[in-house]
Order: sequence, then C-alpha cells, then structure tokens
Amino acid sequence: MNIIMETKKGVLYLVATPIGNLSDISKRALDTLARVDFIAAEDTRVTRKLLSHYEIKKKIVSYYEHSRTESGSKIIESIISGESCALVSDAGTPGISDPGEDLVKLCVAHSIEVLVIPGPCAAVAALTLSGLGATRFTFESFLPAQKKKRLSRLDTLKSENRTMVFYEAPHRLMATLADMLKAFGDRSISISRELTKIYDETLRFTLSEAIAHFAQTTPRGEFVLVVEGYTNAPQCDEELTQNAIKMAIEFKNSGATLKDAIKRAADETGYSKNELYKVMIKKYG
Ligand code: SAM
Repeated sequence: MNIIMETKKGVLYLVATPIGNLSDISKRALDTLARVDFIAAEDTRVTRKLLSHYEIKKKIVSYYEHSRTESGSKIIESIISGESCALVSDAGTPGISDPGEDLVKLCVAHSIEVLVIPGPCAAVAALTLSGLGATRFTFESFLPAQKKKRLSRLDTLKSENRTMVFYEAPHRLMATLADMLKAFGDRSISISRELTKIYDETLRFTLSEAIAHFAQTTPRGEFVLVVEGYTNAPQCDEELTQNAIKMAIEFKNSGATLKDAIKRAADETGYSKNELYKVMIKKYG
C-alpha cells in the first residue's frame, strides 16, 4: 500500500537520518526533507552531504547545542508564520542525546504540532544486537566525563535491573569500563562500534574481558555500551560462589565480624547471604 501524506504547514517534523550507511533513510524522510520550507540541522555540512547524495536542494539553518536559544526562537517564529520545518541531527533520531529535545519543548510550549518520521537510532540498534534483555531497558546516554561524577552516577545504577544503554566517546571508553567494573562487578556487556559503517562490529564480553580487549586494541570510532542489569545472581554459579567466599574472607581478615563480612560480601556480589553463611560457618565455626 502506498500512503501519500501531505507535508503540512506550520509543523515541525523530526526526521531520523542514517547513523552511518546513507541508504538507511526512509522514503517518507526523503519526501519530507524535499517538501518542507526549510531544514534545521545540527551540523549543516553533514546534512548538505546527505541532501546532495539524494539530490535534494533545500534551505538549511543551523540548530546546534550553543545556538539553540537564539536559533530556536527564529525557527519557532518561522513555523508560527506558517512555514514547515524538518529537524535533523548529525545522525539518527533528533532529540536522542542532541539539542532536538529543546526545540520540541519550545514547540510544545507554543502549541505547535510536532510530527515524527522515525528511523535509525544508535541506542536501539545496539540494544537489539546485544543479546541481552531488550524488553525492559534504560537509556543513560553519556556518563559524566569527570571521574567522581561518573562513579557516583554508576553507583545510582548498581541495582538497576533493566538492561542499560550508554553512549561513549572512544577516548573515555577504558575509564568508563573500569568504573563500570568497580560499580557493577563483572557483568555482561555488549559493545557496538561504528554501526552500519565499514568497521561495524559488536563484541560481547564480560566487563573484565572488555577491559583486557581494549588494553590491546585502541578504541576507535563511535560506541554504544549495552550492560546487563542487576540480577539476584544465580545461586549455583561456581565462579560467583568463589568470588563471594573470597570477598567475605577478605572482609573478615581485615577486621569485620563474621556476620558483617558475610553481609557485605553478599551485598557486593548479589550472592545469597544464607548460602554464604553456610559455607563461612563451616570454615570459621
Ligand atoms: N541522535 C543520535 C541517535 O539517535 O543515535 C545520537 C546522537 S549522540 C550526540 C552521538 C552518539 O551516538 C555517539 O557518540 C555514539 O555513542 C552513538 N552513535 C552514533 N552513531 C553511531 C554508530 N554508527 N555506531 C555506534 N554508535 C553510534
């Protein structure tokens, strides 16, 4: 069925664009870009490249992080005067970790109609590839660049039992993985890099394996990290049992009472306190 839809006037269209492969754009997205009065783009050079690939000629205005207050008001004025605008980001879905969110808020505040032309989004693409639970997930975008703030954000996610999706820059990848290991323990992680591009790859590891891998291979390109949520750890997992016992012994040796050592090790590892108690009581009587 071929549904032809008119491009409306006085509307903001959120148009998703490719995250790498220029073919990943819908027919409706291309029709909308060709028919609106103007396009608001995060990076006009990136958008010109896309438009010229599809032989679309259109007026482009700039709408990016540092111009959003000033150019946001101008865009709103043009829409109110009856023009239609398509908002595009550098890649993917406008509004997901880019300033598009603010333009939508402005439109809502001015009772301007907003319509979406859905399409690629790096977070969703990586989640579906991860092999981890994709029914319930939380999108965490970029973690703070500053170590203390990053650790404190990760700390708030320790007991999050949904799968967690993060964006990360290559030069911060190692520090982030190390902080995740510290905060979460050795959980499963799926790392997607350069999705839909030449060096597209998805690696599935534990956090410690990921650290070992990127200690050997310099991280390059764009990354999405998909981390397993907190689970009440499986009681029969031998490795987990050994880790919990080792940790409890360390706590005990460093002066904690047997009860406190068991509680702390059970809390840290997610291992059953009762099971740990049975093992430790045999050892310490
Ligand atoms: N709006 C975009 C979306 O819908 O995915 C995200 C914009 S955010 C500013 C850019 C981040 O998305 C990158 O730093 C990277 O973490 C992730 N990303 C974008 N394209 C990607 C790709 N092809 N492969 C892996 N990650 C990508």
